Amino acid sequence: MKLLFDGIDEPGLNTLPVYERRGGYQALRKALTMTPEEVLSDITESSLRGRGGAGFRMGQKASFLPHGDMEKYLVCNADESEPGTFKDRELMQKSPHMLIEGIAIASYAAEINRAFIYIRGEYSHQADILEAAIAEAEQAGYLGQGILGSAHDLNLVLHRGAGAYICGEETGLLDSLEGKRGNPRLKPPFPAIEGLYHGPTLINNVETLATVPTIIRLGGAEYAKIGTETSTGTKVVSVSGDVQRPGNYEIELGIPSRVLIYDLAGGPPEGREVKFWFPGGSSAPVLTKDDLDLPYDFDSMAKAGSMLGSGAIIVVDDSHTVLEVALKLAKFYAHESCGKCVPCREGTNWTVKMLRRIQSGEATPMDLDLMASVQTQIIGNCLCVLGDAMAMPIGSMIEKFRDELEAEIEAARERAATGELEDVIALGVADEHAGPLPVH
Ligand code: SF4
Repeated sequence: MKLLFDGIDEPGLNTLPVYERRGGYQALRKALTMTPEEVLSDITESSLRGRGGAGFRMGQKASFLPHGDMEKYLVCNADESEPGTFKDRELMQKSPHMLIEGIAIASYAAEINRAFIYIRGEYSHQADILEAAIAEAEQAGYLGQGILGSAHDLNLVLHRGAGAYICGEETGLLDSLEGKRGNPRLKPPFPAIEGLYHGPTLINNVETLATVPTIIRLGGAEYAKIGTETSTGTKVVSVSGDVQRPGNYEIELGIPSRVLIYDLAGGPPEGREVKFWFPGGSSAPVLTKDDLDLPYDFDSMAKAGSMLGSGAIIVVDDSHTVLEVALKLAKFYAHESCGKCVPCREGTNWTVKMLRRIQSGEATPMDLDLMASVQTQIIGNCLCVLGDAMAMPIGSMIEKFRDELEAEIEAARERAATGELEDVIALGVADEHAGPLPVH
């Protein structure tokens, strides 16, 4: 089922005439004939869950914003920094007006007159496209003063980030948008009460906001019939790693994960099989080949001990070792930690060091217990989710692949004892020059 990706590859869809010809901005016209409360009620009725990672219901989040005469803000999180996630990039690049229309409708529903799109610095091509689209929308009266003759105003500004994982965390993003170092804030207060410039702020991901025009077009109740009862609608899933056809696939939530990985993405290369997979970006606890028939939705992933997260599946086949993937992952999070709180700052670095000890033949099986205990002490004890984002997948790898890791420890110890130092050094050098996780 295609809602967001319907006609996504039509040439020129990024321009206003083509978007309008395909029915673009009709949902905004419809919304402006309704009261803001009615629009919000439609969004709430759709049960749309945030597509950025946390899966919080958008309507509920918007309802937390106070009413009254005050400066409120909408911020679209286009930082998309979770490894393996590249769906928002395609949406912004090919259909920027769908996002702008969603922002205009959501701002109207929450009575907001100032909105920002915070886009990651690496997405300069997509930022250029969005800037051009915003200018077109302003010119046509879809943004600015008195939108389409109504009493609603909306000023939309595109802000380019400088490339930091932590600026995808909503409060780190707000600090960065205010011109400060992008450090996460202590919560509460939550952004809906005190966010950008201390004003109430609605923060939503690109895909979440881009879905709003569809909800208004279909009606919230109709939209809620798609997908499962608790995971409504469709989802654009980025599938990458060891698959033959990596890419973005829009699916109805609740289809078997195997369909996504094998039927759509082509499964692992010939002669290989799935060893494990991250169902929701690199911060999701890993699942194994035994979990391939699980329905792909928020609750099924949670029940299996993982999460749907940003909706990015990274497949790892049996040509890779768990140690190799764990080390890349830990190094990424250690590098991206902002250093503000101890469990994350120290825990991510210790984990890298412990994994390197395994690699260099200095570890014993007891180190696995120590490493598992470090992950446990990180989870739930950090200021933001970054610490957990490393600890959850690493903890799951130790739990599910302990035998393989113990064998790695023994093999590396033997190599070190027999003087195969060159191998060990070569491994270290290869690791230093290794790229990121095997993503598309
Ligand atoms: Fe910074 Fe990590 Fe603490 Fe988040 S969890 S605030 S990234 S140190």
